[in-house]
Amino acid sequence: MDLPVDEWKSYLLQKWASLPKSIQVTISTAETLSDIFLHSSSLLQPEDELFLRRLSKSYLVGKDSDAPFFYREQGNKKFQEKDYTAAAVLYSKGVSHSRPNTEDMSLCYANRSAALFHLGQYETCLKDITRAQTHGYPERLQPKIMLRKAECLVALGRLQEASQTIGDLERNFTPTPTPADVPPQTLQRNLHHLKMKVQEKENLTETFPATLAKTLEDVALRGENEQLSSASSSVSLCIDPLKGRYLVATKDILPGELLVKEDAFVSVLNPGELPPPHHGLDSQWDTRVTNGDLYCHRCLKHTLATVPCDGCSYAKYCSQECLQQAWELYHRTECPLGGLLLTLGVFCHIALRLTLVVGFEDVRKIVKKLCVKISNKDICLPESNNQVRTLNWGRGETEKNGSRVGTPIPGCDANGKYGRNYNAVFNLLPHTENHRPEHKFLCAVCASVLCRQLEAASSQAIPTGVNSSQLTAAVTPELCPDVTIWGVAMLRHMLQLQCNAQAITTIQHTGCKGSIVTDSRQVRLATGIFPVISLLNHSCSPNTSVSFTSTVATIRASQRIGKGQEILHCYGPHKSRMGVTERQQKLRSQYFFDCTCPACQTEAHRMTAGPRWKAFCCNSCRAPMQGDGVLRCGNRSCAESVVSRDDLVSRLQDLQQQVGVAQKLLRDGELERAVQLLSGCQRDAESFLWAEHAMVGEIADGLAQACAALGDWQKSATHLQKSLRVVEVRHGPSSVEMGHELFKLAQIFFNGFAVPEALSTIQKAEEVLSLHCGPWDDEIQELQKMKSCLLDLPPTLVRS
Ligand SMILES: [Zn+2]
Ligand SMILES: [Zn+2]
Ligand SMILES: [Zn+2]
Ligand SMILES: [Zn+2]
Repeated sequence: MDLPVDEWKSYLLQKWASLPKSIQVTISTAETLSDIFLHSSSLLQPEDELFLRRLSKSYLVGKDSDAPFFYREQGNKKFQEKDYTAAAVLYSKGVSHSRPNTEDMSLCYANRSAALFHLGQYETCLKDITRAQTHGYPERLQPKIMLRKAECLVALGRLQEASQTIGDLERNFTPTPTPADVPPQTLQRNLHHLKMKVQEKENLTETFPATLAKTLEDVALRGENEQLSSASSSVSLCIDPLKGRYLVATKDILPGELLVKEDAFVSVLNPGELPPPHHGLDSQWDTRVTNGDLYCHRCLKHTLATVPCDGCSYAKYCSQECLQQAWELYHRTECPLGGLLLTLGVFCHIALRLTLVVGFEDVRKIVKKLCVKISNKDICLPESNNQVRTLNWGRGETEKNGSRVGTPIPGCDANGKYGRNYNAVFNLLPHTENHRPEHKFLCAVCASVLCRQLEAASSQAIPTGVNSSQLTAAVTPELCPDVTIWGVAMLRHMLQLQCNAQAITTIQHTGCKGSIVTDSRQVRLATGIFPVISLLNHSCSPNTSVSFTSTVATIRASQRIGKGQEILHCYGPHKSRMGVTERQQKLRSQYFFDCTCPACQTEAHRMTAGPRWKAFCCNSCRAPMQGDGVLRCGNRSCAESVVSRDDLVSRLQDLQQQVGVAQKLLRDGELERAVQLLSGCQRDAESFLWAEHAMVGEIADGLAQACAALGDWQKSATHLQKSLRVVEVRHGPSSVEMGHELFKLAQIFFNGFAVPEALSTIQKAEEVLSLHCGPWDDEIQELQKMKSCLLDLPPTLVRS
């Protein structure tokens, strides 16, 4: 997903392998990124581009005029099955293939408005009705959507507008001519019915509470940081020769305190895991749902009512505003390159978007400025091994300027402030010397392909972020000779992203059919670049926690951080998810460093024991098993014979598979069968897994969900408490995982009317979750609703 698709990757690696040794050496030993770029770029042949073009064509990114009808039919099927969410998504796919101002487009919008109406999304429904009307909704069908509009307005309490709509409808449609799809009697009856509703509501003297606007405004940062934008005054930016740049606490920080709140400099929605559909008669159009169908491609807001780009079928937005902004900033260049960008991967896409958003002029200025400053060795040189040199650059800069007020920290502006700007992004380390030569070649060729596309496209439209008011500006004459600068900048960004890309995640709530208790899972939504967050160093057991709202990341202290302590963030390999060997290997290969965090140091000492959540236990005495290839019971007096690790591992794999089957049954609502299977798994697990093994927790969690769906709250709570213990051992008592688990337990107690237990669990869940997320987090909001509901209960209902 981040890197190009496998076919293109292996094509280029083969090309690399077949290069004469001398050329390989030239590229491997090239001193600067521009040398790497120029050498690699000169090797790109027309047949390579042809191959790439063929690959790109397998993505259906254009508009297909036959698709809207197909998707509308598919949507109607789901609508009849009352699966309104699925129907809405299919209508959206229909919309994205329709041309503006066509009946196709208006019908897809109108049908989607019906699905949204049934989902209770009245505001969005109204928007779709307007969209249907502006794109030429047929006159004969008007009464249908006007009735729906009136219904929405009534539901929203906007009674005056509702009456007006009803009035319009009566004047224009009731006498003659007869509207085709709504027989006159039905229309009359519906109108009458609606008018009654309006009257009823008008008689209620109470005004309707305006729907609680969910502001994205979070608690503010504690004081503005003068040196570091997007950060609180509780932290400060430091630099040292060994560590590079890092953040420390300037005062004692309490758990839950907001430390950084930063909007992504650039982000690209991840297209999802789905491979492109193969050419063939069976899969003409794709009905699969990906993140690309559910989230705005610009602001990442979740929506069922996307608005598509006029030029392609893949870019979709939450609103006309997002569409317009995306178009002006980058999409007018990206639009015709959809298939190519999907083939080249997210890193390439971000690299391109960075240069588009910043604008060619500014990219050129920064590249030139930094390359000139360091005389013949440009900024694109390896730099991470020697942080001292990084420091010197800065000093040189200030000396040359003849003043000492300048800053020694790379990425800062003339006033010494580090912020969310291209200078800071450009200064993130690309670790050029650590990447394998064939990888650099691959990235350079991809950047070169993009450059050629841009050159070709520049004869029609030129992408600049700055003067983008006219949709088609002319080519600036100096663009062509300077295209190398563009390529070098993109190459630098692609190399930087391996260490600096930040996954933007969201929590998706899922639940088995019929269950009120929801489960949550973290999904990766997009990849972004955050220059301030990139300053944080890694720990496998960090003291902060990151969460996202739209494209804004917030970093909170997840524990007390003393004055002077470093603020640490986890790059992915967390001690609760991987053992020390796996973490170290991952950090070395992706981030090029050896982790010496306290977790790594202590774990390395007792490596043989391994974490408890992965441990096997003795079948007869339940003591932990010890050893490497051959395991024996840790209890010396136990007579149990030895077992091979491989046997236990394969038993665990079988169990995992069984649990997977049970989880599928659970999702399909086959509750009794799921319980039966899970109970069997539980017995099996207890015979060879440690009581706090992750698998034991997973099974208990499944049982808890099934029991909840069956209405047996007590049993459900017992199972969930078991799962809770496993989560606590693995992730720690105040981890976000623990918060999600407590949230589930609170839901179970709440639904089972166990008021004291529910209240105390709600309190605990709130405490843990607020360490990681802001007050507008869905789960925290839900907990507060549950609490006020319980506190309002009449005492007679309370079972104690
Ligand atoms: Zn948006
Ligand atoms: Zn487009
Ligand atoms: Zn570590
Ligand atoms: Zn034993």
